[in-house]
Amino acid sequence: MAGKGNKNAHRKGKESKTLFERIWTLANHRGFVFPSAEIYGGISGLYDLGPLGTKLKNNLVQAWREFFVLKETNPPVYELDGSTILPYEALKASGHLDSFTDPTVSCLKCKKWMRADHLIEDSLGLYVEGMPPEELTRIIRENNLVCPDCGGELSEVTVFNLMLSVKVGPAGGQTAFLRPETAQDIFMDFKRVQQSMRAKLPFGIAQIGKSYRNEISPRQGLMRVREFTQMEIEMFIHPKEIGNHPSFDKVKDIKIRILTREQQEKGETEPVEVTAQESLDKKILPNPYMAYYIAKETIFYQSLGIPYDKFHFRHMMPEETPFYSGGNFDLEVELSIGRKEIVGNAYRTNYDLFNHMKKSGKDLSVSVDGEKVIPEVVEPSFGVERAIYCILEHCYREDDGRGWSWFKFPIKIAPILALVLPLVRREPLMEIAFKTYQTLRENGLDVDYDDRGSIGKRYARADEIGIPFCITIDYDTPKANTVTIRDRDSRKQAVVNKDDLVEIIRKLYTGTIKFDDLVSS
Ligand code: AMP
Repeated sequence: MAGKGNKNAHRKGKESKTLFERIWTLANHRGFVFPSAEIYGGISGLYDLGPLGTKLKNNLVQAWREFFVLKETNPPVYELDGSTILPYEALKASGHLDSFTDPTVSCLKCKKWMRADHLIEDSLGLYVEGMPPEELTRIIRENNLVCPDCGGELSEVTVFNLMLSVKVGPAGGQTAFLRPETAQDIFMDFKRVQQSMRAKLPFGIAQIGKSYRNEISPRQGLMRVREFTQMEIEMFIHPKEIGNHPSFDKVKDIKIRILTREQQEKGETEPVEVTAQESLDKKILPNPYMAYYIAKETIFYQSLGIPYDKFHFRHMMPEETPFYSGGNFDLEVELSIGRKEIVGNAYRTNYDLFNHMKKSGKDLSVSVDGEKVIPEVVEPSFGVERAIYCILEHCYREDDGRGWSWFKFPIKIAPILALVLPLVRREPLMEIAFKTYQTLRENGLDVDYDDRGSIGKRYARADEIGIPFCITIDYDTPKANTVTIRDRDSRKQAVVNKDDLVEIIRKLYTGTIKFDDLVSS
């Protein structure tokens, strides 16, 4: 079940640090991520992405946008960039004010606050998400659970709202909240987008942006933070057409892995494998829109370096699913810290539009052949920070004989595409190398330059931050106008004409050629 994992499974050999700790330390040292406001001690659950983390994030977001938004034509997907501050009424209507809560328990001795369900999971290995507070209190009492930090007695379990409030305007101001998900802007702007784009159902609205949750106990680095980036799509569908996705044929044969409710009831953990079409024939997924996204996500996460057999889609159990939902399927990735949700796929029905209509008094229905229709909604909701950690862990390599650990990032998301280096710190090699670096950058290729240390050390440093290619300017360059490209993964080298470099690096980036094509040519 979700969130569980053999606590020691990720300890490697004689190493005293867990895999998670090793990767997290590297991510800090190599400039991927640091605690926010660190010089003042920071606030738990808030992080800044450093130079490499920012590039990794931008590349990931760009890849997502291309795959899930820009290339989509039928249905089309429009974009939105909404406010992160939402009024009280909006979040009352969406249900967040009343039910966006987590169960908490506090230590009566040291006053530490904890998530009650996490405490039970960690101490007893029981998965209790969605259980009412009284049940959780009973489990804590029956099992004599105490504070994991000081052994103190624990309070009753209560619920805590996860939204962060802000005061807008002077003199006390109007109470508002930082948005807990990007979706609500989309629902409130639905009619505006539909009218301004003259959109017909079905169509989607996507938004990439920050969301905020006042997590009780942020933990596991980027996996549970208080400020994070979501990439969400709300797909609006005519209720009578929920069974027809116009482009379903494109994905129907894609294999997907699903952990069904029946399997979870039996305690099974190995998902079933079906094609997208079979998932509908066997009534595993509720509609072709859900199957379409799950199939696309299966392709997408593999392209980020997460192996096919390391993730699946878990049908959430009834107690974990909102009452209005037509089915929720979480993409869970196997990590050294357990199975973790990184995407939530939800069939939200017309719940959000309906409630915003009711509360605001505004008509958010669309007219189809003279009939007023409130669309149904299927939503894939992607978390960026969790995906970043999954990429770091699944692309991390050690003990492969090179003597250093490295990241095997897929070319299209690697923070730096190539590194240009003079073989030694001598002229004219340095000047040629720097000019080559400038030419590549002027041509829109995200490359870096390094002339410090031995060539071996520089190759190692490049591997350590996952740079796919090193371009070395050597003694042949001034004479024969050639440069040597080194491939990170195979460590093979290819000699190419310097004048072809921009084109070659561009083709390696787009995948039009493979590195081996250069070696054999
Ligand atoms: P949810 O609305 O809870 O289904 O969340 C959608 C996605 O947002 C999740 O699959 C995560 O990838 C991401 N997410 C939610 N909460 C957090 C958090 N506290 N820290 C990092 N990512 C989160």
